[in-house]
Amino acid sequence: MRSFSRRDFIKSSLLCGIGASVLSCQSNLRTTRQTDTRYIAAYDTESSDCLAACRKIVKVHRQFEMPATFFILGRTLDANPTAYRELLDDPLFEIATHTYSHRMLRDHQFCGSAIPLDEKRKEIFEGKASVERVFERPCIGLRPGCGFENALKGEPEVLKILHQAGIHYVSSLLWGPDYSLPALLREPFTYSEEGFPDIWELPGHGWHENLLKNHNQWGPRRLTLWPSPFPEAIANGYCKTPEDEFNVNKIFLDKAVESGKSFVSLIWHPWSLHKFDLNMKMLELTFAYVRHMGLQPCTYAQLYASVSDLNGS
Ligand SMILES: [Zn+2]
Repeated sequence: MRSFSRRDFIKSSLLCGIGASVLSCQSNLRTTRQTDTRYIAAYDTESSDCLAACRKIVKVHRQFEMPATFFILGRTLDANPTAYRELLDDPLFEIATHTYSHRMLRDHQFCGSAIPLDEKRKEIFEGKASVERVFERPCIGLRPGCGFENALKGEPEVLKILHQAGIHYVSSLLWGPDYSLPALLREPFTYSEEGFPDIWELPGHGWHENLLKNHNQWGPRRLTLWPSPFPEAIANGYCKTPEDEFNVNKIFLDKAVESGKSFVSLIWHPWSLHKFDLNMKMLELTFAYVRHMGLQPCTYAQLYASVSDLNGS
């Protein structure tokens, strides 16, 4: 049914050229195939190095007419509000919050202990307020720092704050079982069990790309499960080139389409992408492939609108 082959992709890439000339072939690539699976490019924007990186990222997005969601830390945004507004104030982009300063909303095996409840409130409210102040548009989504293996399940107090703040979706499920990687291709769900049927969880998938390159200087860690539910997605070692990273991405994109998932979104960080790949070649390769596969690009806000509408909420 899905008769895509790597040969086809390479052929298209060669014909079109990946990079500067790819735009001229986009309409051709777009009609190659069509799937119902959505694709979201998303960026956890969280350090002073992210601004220069975002300038390059945005260029690639405009070239490919590719939407994106930027989850931005309040303190990162407040350090350069005008520059971020000028760069990202575009209908192509959704701006959501990555909390105010990346502190933990629940205990995390690698990133540390949860902060007190009143501090969680500040992280959520001030993060959202920063986005709305700078961009003068509503911020409906939040991705907590680091994300968790079990999303915000069993955290009704945090969900209550999110509800009070007017957050409609969270993207907090960013790890596999037992804090393993990759994060599996999990589907959206609501927090009905915690008493918040109107708040959606819209997970992220795959590797935290910074860890694929040892950019956190963690060295070897017990990050993978045994037996692995997704062994083909576990690379033999750190990525060395943009092509290595693209080849990892491709495994998730292919699997999402093959297994009929509603969406796929990889966990990317501007600072780390830029440190590894100054020219953002990996983005070009990935977006060309997304177009070739006929994935439906959108933002997290658009995915939220779709799933909440289908659910009648
Ligand atoms: Zn982060």
